[in-house]
Amino acid sequence: MKINPLRLQQHFEAMSLIGKIGDTGTCRPAHSSLEKEAFLLAASWMQAAGMTTRIDDFGNLIGRLEGSQPHLPVLMMGSHLDSQPYGGRFDGVAGVLCAIEVVTTLTENNIVPTRPIEVISFADEEGWRFNKGLFGSRGILGKLEAGELQRTDKDGISREQALLDFGCNISNFKASEYANGSIFCFLELHIEQGPVLDIANKPIGVVSGISGPLWQTLTLKGMAGHAGSVPMAIRNDALVGAAEVIIALNEIATQIPGAPTVGTVGTLQVFPASRNIIPEEVTLTLDLRDIDLERRNKYENQLLQAINRIAEKHGLTYTLTEDTNSEPRYCATWIKEIIHEQCQLLQLDAPELMSGPFHDSLPLSYVCDYGMIFIRSKDGISHNPLEYSSYEDLAIGCNVLLGTVNTILNKQ
Ligand SMILES: [Zn+2]
Repeated sequence: MKINPLRLQQHFEAMSLIGKIGDTGTCRPAHSSLEKEAFLLAASWMQAAGMTTRIDDFGNLIGRLEGSQPHLPVLMMGSHLDSQPYGGRFDGVAGVLCAIEVVTTLTENNIVPTRPIEVISFADEEGWRFNKGLFGSRGILGKLEAGELQRTDKDGISREQALLDFGCNISNFKASEYANGSIFCFLELHIEQGPVLDIANKPIGVVSGISGPLWQTLTLKGMAGHAGSVPMAIRNDALVGAAEVIIALNEIATQIPGAPTVGTVGTLQVFPASRNIIPEEVTLTLDLRDIDLERRNKYENQLLQAINRIAEKHGLTYTLTEDTNSEPRYCATWIKEIIHEQCQLLQLDAPELMSGPFHDSLPLSYVCDYGMIFIRSKDGISHNPLEYSSYEDLAIGCNVLLGTVNTILNKQ
């Protein structure tokens, strides 16, 4: 049993027209009329595959293929159809369209699963419109936070208003939540969005887990002074301190060659920011991620020691605040093993790799076992119209997903 690569390609091509920017880009904001258009198109393919479809009150699109035992916990697959404002054609889309193709192939082969299968396109995975993502996947699990509906986009439209405009009934969220134990497992196929597979020249990767980011904000304070008159020996230059912190984080994150640890300073604010004044205060963001929480904690401690040493060396004071502290979430070993088996059947040498970015799998990991399949991203580019994965690679990944689903259905 194999998927139909031509049909899959046609679905990608048709979906890429909705919210198209430039030759290869996509802008499909969450809860927008463009996302609705994408949902209706995807729903038509779900229906052709024998699924019933609905849009729930969080703005998720859900297709359901009934099982011979409808009360059994569902095998859920999916991703998202919203995109970054200057995004590509494959991020999220791959996981939804490949899941639909898998179900289409199953029904074409007259397979009636024992447990129900659901394909879901989660609302607002990307998070840029309201500065908070994974909305739909957290929503169905009852994990929304206080004040989320009052967040506004750049035009002043609240999440609440956007959901109402989308046709959602926000007083009925409870009815769209999934009860504990009602999801058997979750499978997500996604483009890698990084260069590991491309460099290794492998089309498919098996995800080991989603790394947990530690986000901190550091403010270093020194003393301003005339850039022409204060002697070097008595300066308290906050920017020199910040530069050393950046180097320190880089050295900490690279101390084990080849390890998946990543550390980034992505922003730097300098005060008073004059070429003629010694920088008095610098605020920078620290992002540290690792699949190994113990190692990340150790590195966090090394970073703190480095900050103390650097502050003392330059006569600086500092404040360090924690913005986000997520733990790594590992894929289920039994699902990873099935994915590896399927790769071997297709003569694929599929490396295991971790995911630096978040995915809808992250909230799902708290309620069920999950597995992820990565597709090679050309040059590792994503969140950019240049994002590219070949239809050949996507078809291979879709066949791995099909084999994985079929094995799970036969096993359980
Ligand atoms: Zn995505």
